[in-house]
Amino acid sequence: MSVRDFTPDEASVADQLTKLKAAAGSHSPSLLTLREQLPHLDIAVDACFISNPYATQLFLDHLQRELIDTGAIRDVLEFYPSQNEVIAELLASQLGIGPESLFVGNGAIEIIQALIHNVARRRVLVTLPTFSSYYEFAAGRVEVAFHTLSKDDEFRLDPEEYLARVREVEPDMVVLINPNNPDGSYLPHGDLLLILDGLPPEVTAVVDESFIHFAFEDLNLDIRSVIPECEHHPNLVVVKSMSKDFGIAGIRAGYAVMHPDRVGDLLRNGYLWNSNGLAEYFFRLYCRADFLESYDLVRKQYILETQLFYRQLAKVPGTRTYPSMANFALVEILDGVSADLVTQHLLVRHGVYVRTCSDKIGLDGEFLRVASRGLRDNQRIIDALGDVLGTG
Ligand SMILES: *Cc1c(COP(=O)(O)O)cnc(C)c1O
Repeated sequence: MSVRDFTPDEASVADQLTKLKAAAGSHSPSLLTLREQLPHLDIAVDACFISNPYATQLFLDHLQRELIDTGAIRDVLEFYPSQNEVIAELLASQLGIGPESLFVGNGAIEIIQALIHNVARRRVLVTLPTFSSYYEFAAGRVEVAFHTLSKDDEFRLDPEEYLARVREVEPDMVVLINPNNPDGSYLPHGDLLLILDGLPPEVTAVVDESFIHFAFEDLNLDIRSVIPECEHHPNLVVVKSMSKDFGIAGIRAGYAVMHPDRVGDLLRNGYLWNSNGLAEYFFRLYCRADFLESYDLVRKQYILETQLFYRQLAKVPGTRTYPSMANFALVEILDGVSADLVTQHLLVRHGVYVRTCSDKIGLDGEFLRVASRGLRDNQRIIDALGDVLGTG
């Protein structure tokens, strides 16, 4: 397998891409940045950002009908939205928990930062590979220890090994992302309960369920959240971003469920007015049975298309696709071709934007993280990958 050389024009675009990626740190340059900085680059498929496009459309349809067509958008923009605790009260009834256990964030990132800066004291145990914010916010404040998942085990986490690692490292906070980003591995509900029960009681367990809407354990594709466990585990914190499953990263909406004392501590540090009007509109939709019913249809349709996509990806020669219960999969590029090079070729030649994982720590090999984008776009990704790797 070989990747063809770039023409001089293509090489210059690839060079600019490398610089933009470097400027974005451990995240990827946004679609907007790429379009601004590289106006001649035609980006046809964004498989770098990991969201459900059908859910975005559903939200947009509601927004059009209820805010734009009626003119109600003016109120959303002109007036203050509700304060944190008012939105928490709304959401709590939807989640079946007490409002005093709910913390609403300007995206889950704000919550992660709040937890690492205010709740973690000494040492955080993070699995690898992982979502970089969990260790980046710790820098210079608390120690970070790692539990590395191996590609030889398809990034599966073994509860007994994990608990042994906890006893060895003695963290005061552990972080589990389920399904995990960037590998998509899923810790079955039963295993997660084993871990929660096996942790020393003083250890705070942060479970990030930002991708839980894409995971399933039965044919009905039901969601298995650990939010109900918060009642029996005072040290459990469940973090939820709405960006990926509802496809609304732009409005910054997330929440966390945790012990009321912790919510109280955080609110004393600020966060009074941290949601915007559109996020409030979304949260109000999220509490409506009619919206949730429509959402569940697009969620399930998307899951089925995504699993089909993974089966197609698995057939691309020269690659290995790892099992995933999230809406993205890790694709390992075999035979010594670099993931950065493949990423650049996909973008420059085919307008297909995927995430290179060359900057992800704890990943041994050349990996792309490829998001599922709906049937037609998924086919374009498969075709482009086949072409770039010389097999199409
Ligand atoms: C994207 C992501 C977040 C942050 O989401 P926002 O709500 O957009 O801030 C948190 N955790 C994980 C695992 C993510 O992938």
